[in-house]
Amino acid sequence: LESTPQTTRETSFIGKMKKTGKNIVVFYGSQTGTGEEFANRLAKDAHRYGMKGMAADPEEYDMSELSRLTEIENSIAIFCLATYGEGDPTDNAQDFYDWLQEGDADFSGVKYTVFALGNKTYEHYNAMGKYVDKRLAELGAQRIFDLGMGDDDGNLEEDFVSWREQFWPAVCEHFGVEATGEESSIRQYELKVHSDLNMNKVYTGELGRLMSFENQKPPFDSKNPFLAAVTVNRKLNKAGDRHLMHLELDITGSKISVSEGNNALFIGFKISHLSADTDMVADISCIPNLDNFKYDFLNISIFFKYCSILTNLTSMESLFIQRSDDALYQSWVLDSCRNILAILEDLPSLRPPIDHLCELLPRLQARYYSIASSSKVHPNSIHICAVVVEYETKTGRVNKGVATNWLKSKMPTDNGHKTTVPMYIRKSQFRLPFKSTNPVIMVGPGTGIAPFMGFVQERGWLKEQGKDIGETVLYYGCRYKNEDFLYQEELEEFEKTGVLTALNVAFSRDQAEKVYVQHLLKKNKEAVWRLVHSDNAHIYICGDARNMARDVQNAFYEIAEELGGLSRAQAVDYVKKLMTKGRYSQDVWS
Ligand code: FAD
Ligand code: NAP
Repeated sequence: LESTPQTTRETSFIGKMKKTGKNIVVFYGSQTGTGEEFANRLAKDAHRYGMKGMAADPEEYDMSELSRLTEIENSIAIFCLATYGEGDPTDNAQDFYDWLQEGDADFSGVKYTVFALGNKTYEHYNAMGKYVDKRLAELGAQRIFDLGMGDDDGNLEEDFVSWREQFWPAVCEHFGVEATGEESSIRQYELKVHSDLNMNKVYTGELGRLMSFENQKPPFDSKNPFLAAVTVNRKLNKAGDRHLMHLELDITGSKISVSEGNNALFIGFKISHLSADTDMVADISCIPNLDNFKYDFLNISIFFKYCSILTNLTSMESLFIQRSDDALYQSWVLDSCRNILAILEDLPSLRPPIDHLCELLPRLQARYYSIASSSKVHPNSIHICAVVVEYETKTGRVNKGVATNWLKSKMPTDNGHKTTVPMYIRKSQFRLPFKSTNPVIMVGPGTGIAPFMGFVQERGWLKEQGKDIGETVLYYGCRYKNEDFLYQEELEEFEKTGVLTALNVAFSRDQAEKVYVQHLLKKNKEAVWRLVHSDNAHIYICGDARNMARDVQNAFYEIAEELGGLSRAQAVDYVKKLMTKGRYSQDVWS
């Protein structure tokens, strides 16, 4: 039950493939787990065609070995690559991306295909997948099947399944092989229940190292999170059904740096949300040669903490949804927001064994939050501003967001004990301009205000140090002035002291017609255009990616058309140039 020491981990995927008789390697660039899950499914599929696949994290292997894939007969490298943020690679694919950009490797003879995961609501749709697909070809590799593109704003699962259905026949044709007829429902894991164990040796939720939550050692990162004490957890909204919250986490002694005045991102996992037989200690191991397993050992409560049981919809496919019936999948699963628990409840005859569930469910993923504080003002704490996710589904169930409901319950003390949450920081490009005199326009309705609380605190601190600060203009939006005007007192105080040059607030529901941030931008178009066009202002947008970010961008197009005398195409180009120069940045989520 002890984890394998990191030092013995094999970094040669070619060595591993040769040793285990694999000829297909599926690399994944995954931030939220879907890319990893798709990679596992493809690796498993190979079995049906008499081949053997393994999924691999590019961060854990020496990718310069890729050119040696030709040493393995009938081999293919498949890439399942998600695009993150503003066209960026996922964290685990960053080094691979940098290496591909800089390097001049010769991939002659290497066969590959790429499936890209992205979201059409974002500007740089599937940029990472497209880049790798193109770059590998430039370096001499042979594309054996066309780039697949998955859109999370549509139906990512369906895009993946239809690509996969065409991909395998193409592979068979390429290598002159036939499907063996063996279904991929072979089991990967073996469950062993233990009744008598030394609990010190039982994994209790640490990601990287046994006992790492007891003996915390820096550096802290995604695989070794820091347990930060919650020092403040307060409700921000004065009224209304929702719960918007402000949390402060103590990072004293963590050596975590939130330097450069930026808004890095963070947060924790370890979610307990399910009632199950939490006392059972089991160990789930890979059946030899089927080694994609990620959970080394576990206590069942930890298993639930680590699997996205409550949120994952896609991985249920192989349980019982007939893939041929896409319409049923769409309406019964997706549109009805039936998570796996709801499905098990609604189909009581279905009682999958726990090890089979393990095989199908990806690990629960970390949730990110924009940091709502400045490290200059709060060197030992990090603030976040989040809305608790809760909504009613078509089946009448109330679905509760996993991380936000867990965070809501994290009061500073619990029975006299300090409450902690595992967290780490992810660097972000969303940061104030280097020069404090540069003007900024910040647009952040709802929880989109989060990073701007940090920005404004930072500028206030600079002002106190006697530095000149440029115009600092905020566009904030909420539903009702007396209900969810978040940080009202703090923001008004910043305006009074001149840190905020202008505090523009759009109250959307205080009158008959909707008033949104983009309406205020348009109302102030002359001032906005002067700041952008003449004064080199940096523009920041934060919050909802689905509608707000797009509508605000359109408002900037319209202002550029009206005041800059540009055509729509020129206005689009104008904003694109601002983005390239780092003067139009977005930190948005959907
Ligand atoms: P989950 O259990 O993950 O459930 C969320 C899912 O529920 C959504 O993906 C959606 O599919 C579904 N859902 C939600 N509402 C509905 C509905 N009405 N109808 C149907 N389905 C619905 N959040 C903040 O509050 N503050 C921040 O500062 C912040 N910053 C972020 C920065 C970045 C870069 C990113 C990527 C995200 C950020 N988020 C922020 C979002 C945050 O990471 C989480 O996604 C959010 O808190 C929900 O997590 P959860 O575990 O509570 O919900
Ligand atoms: P919110 O309080 O719902 O909205 C803030 C303000 O923005 C409201 O006044 C709202 O007006 C307004 N608004 C709505 N549509 C807009 C548009 N197209 N352009 C400009 N303003 C608009 O904010 P929130 O609670 O922070 O959530 C914002 C959005 O983020 C949510 O709608 C959701 O999509 C997303 N979100 C997702 C998750 C997640 O689970 N992944 C978590 C948090 C937030 P009206 O409501 O009156 O129209």
